[in-house]
Order: sequence, then C-alpha cells, then structure tokens
Amino acid sequence: MRHPVQNTLKAAVTFDGIGLHSGKPAKMVVLPAAAQHGVTFKRTDIALGNTVIPARWDMVERTALCTRLVNAAGVSVSTVEHIMAALAGCGVHNARVEIDGPEVPIMDGSSAQFVREIMATGIQRLHAPVRAWKVLKPVMVETKDARATLLPCDRLKISFDIEFAEEGIGHQSRELDLRNGTFARELCDSRTFCRRVDVEEMQANGLALGGVPGENAVVFDGPVVHAGSGLRHSDEPVRHKMLDALGDLALAGLPIFGHYVGERAGHSMTNTLLRALFNEPGAVAEVTCDPVMTARLPGQGLVWSEIPAQVRRVA
Ligand SMILES: [Zn+2]
Repeated sequence: MRHPVQNTLKAAVTFDGIGLHSGKPAKMVVLPAAAQHGVTFKRTDIALGNTVIPARWDMVERTALCTRLVNAAGVSVSTVEHIMAALAGCGVHNARVEIDGPEVPIMDGSSAQFVREIMATGIQRLHAPVRAWKVLKPVMVETKDARATLLPCDRLKISFDIEFAEEGIGHQSRELDLRNGTFARELCDSRTFCRRVDVEEMQANGLALGGVPGENAVVFDGPVVHAGSGLRHSDEPVRHKMLDALGDLALAGLPIFGHYVGERAGHSMTNTLLRALFNEPGAVAEVTCDPVMTARLPGQGLVWSEIPAQVRRVA
C-alpha cells in the first residue's frame, strides 16, 4: 500500500523584509498548494505575462553569491535558498510562494524565522505518496579548488568543508544526517556570512546593498566578528553552507536520498552538480517512498520544542 504523506502548509504565512543583495523591500506570502504542485514562486508586482517561476534546478541562473531563478519570460526571483531550505527542512513538499519584489527577504540571514512561522502555522498532510530522487551512482563536479559530490545513501546526508584564510573562520568541517528534524535543530539559525574585504567589492558590483553587519549577515573582519549578540554556533559559517546546500538541493524538485559532499562549494557548483546528476544516464531514479523511506525524510519527526528560540549564542 502507498503511504500518503505529501505535505503542505495549513495556512498562508507572510514575511516582510528587505533583499540582502538588492536592498529592496519585499512582502512574501507562502501559501498551501495541492499534492504534486511542488514549490513555485510568483512575482505579484509584475502585472503582465508569465510571472510564475518553478523552484527547479533548470530555472537557475548560476551566480556566485545567491541562487536566482528565471523563467522563460525572463521573470526572476533571487536568494531563494533560505526559504527553500526551510521548506525542505520542515518536510513541506508543496507551496506557492508569492512575492512583490525581485528578492526573497533576508530576515536575520538564516532560515530560522521561516522555520518558526511554518511550524507555528502547521503542516497539512495531503493524500498522495511522497516521491523522491534516489542517487544510484556517484556524481562529482569540481574546479581548481572546489568540489561537490553526490553519493548513493539511504537518507539525505550533507557533509561540508570550508577553508578561509580569515582567522575568524579558518577550517571548518561538519557532517549531518538530515533525518528527524536535524535541519531545524542544527542548521536553520546559522546566518549568511562574508568577509569585510568582500563587502566593498560586492557593493561596487551592486550586491549586498541590503546587508547590515550583525543584523542580517555575520561579517568577519580579521579578529573582529560582527555577529549581533554573538555567534550562534562556534562553526556557524560551515553550518550556513550546509543550510544553503539543502536549499539548493531542494531545487531537484523532490527530496533526495543521497550523500552531498561540498568542499569549498557554493550555490553555482551545487546547481552544476544537479545538472550533472540529471544529465548522467542511470545516475538517479524517481522512487515512491514506502513508510520506512518516508520516516527518513527531512522534517519527519520534527517537534516544536527543538526549534531554536529567537536568539542563541555561544561566543
Ligand atoms: Zn545562504
């Protein structure tokens, strides 16, 4: 017998804020959607033409600093990775995201507020089995100094390794099994970060215009760390890279059973990896989850008491 547990939200949730890169205000409403809908974005500030953008890997315009989706009509939405991670991490398979601007609000730079509001609103079960992608053989993409790999695995695992000369970051490495609400417990409140030396260059290129150090991004400046009331985890940067990886992997359109390994990887490389996965014959198969597989999906077993409170501080 099939196991009918696709999920959506019980009701709409609204977020107001500004875009990290554009600096533009946006109101984002995450609405329930039917089974098989997946996740779509819709630009409500554009009146004419096709304003719906499916949250899918083949809609990604590859950029270094955030994930931007663009539809065939050229309508785009930027910085989708943190809301995508929140939906995937809470086990929400179907949602319609309406937004009245070009970029998802950055909130505090993490997915925590998205997770809190989604879970406070509640998860609605739908009468359809969960479909998923099962990685069947290793796929790897690399450049001179970065690499991303997907390996067969009976659950979703994410491993990440970063290395920065900046003394506040240095070498950080972590591996997590994403079952049982791990995302909400371990990753969702880790914030976007950058180095002070990169901020001026980004702003000269019209990026990070909405960035406020310590408020919506952690900024490392030699030994000084602008992190609001402090870092939330001693290895907050690598945890944020894992959050980004979950959000970018969610653009596969279905949950993935596989082990993602990122070595100094980023948004563009994770998207290149998904393209390689879907273009390599026999690398991936679509499966229907039985109860055992469903129990291993991110978001299953997530309980409210494990969701981080507004502020958590370790340093
Ligand atoms: Zn991010």
